[in-house]
Amino acid sequence: MTMTCERCKTEIYKYLTCNYCSRKICNNCLKSSQKSSKTVKMVICKDCWSDMKKRNAYKNKKMPVESNQIVQ
Ligand SMILES: [Zn+2]
Ligand SMILES: [Zn+2]
Repeated sequence: MTMTCERCKTEIYKYLTCNYCSRKICNNCLKSSQKSSKTVKMVICKDCWSDMKKRNAYKNKKMPVESNQIVQ
């Protein structure tokens, strides 16, 4: 079963979810991933990487707020 990357619209088998925009992205759109703890994997896409706020949050291993209340 395939699905579509929500960033570049490529058909993919396996997706990653960006922690900062919650889109399902392919490996190509993945900018970076790291482990913030033993169990939590953080994923950031190229779009969010170009957003300084999100990039800094990622570098500080801060997870975004898990809701719609993302402060612009
Ligand atoms: Zn993609
Ligand atoms: Zn993203």
